[in-house]
Amino acid sequence: MLLISCPNCGSRDETEFHYGGQAHVPYPENPNELNDREWAEFLFYRDNTKGIFAERWLHSTGCRQWFNMLRDTVSYDIQAVYPMGAPRPAAVASPAPESGTASLAADSTTTGNSAPSIAGTSTSATSTNASSTTAPEGATK
Ligand code: ZN
Repeated sequence: MLLISCPNCGSRDETEFHYGGQAHVPYPENPNELNDREWAEFLFYRDNTKGIFAERWLHSTGCRQWFNMLRDTVSYDIQAVYPMGAPRPAAVASPAPESGTASLAADSTTTGNSAPSIAGTSTSATSTNASSTTAPEGATK
């Protein structure tokens, strides 16, 4: 669960917000001059960034205002919240290189002895399933 800091209301639970897709996608200056492919790319093609991503959010059950957010799509770390129309702030140094190093280390571990890492993965998956099964029961009460 994300704790999102609305620029108007302060920190609120993620359930009060709606995701609005990629930020900073400008409307074409002359849409009638676009061919079908260019128009389709404007309408439907969005970046699928791994790491820091600028996105729009709507505080739908609060102030009902749109704002932009810089969020790490890997760690879910919210780096900045800023108003619509404001330029994208510079991203803080991403932890992505560290995770890249970690994945390299995991690969070398896997190459050396793959069986223990698979066992560890299945154990964590089982515990994740158990906790997610518990959540809906609590929600229905
Ligand atoms: Zn708000």
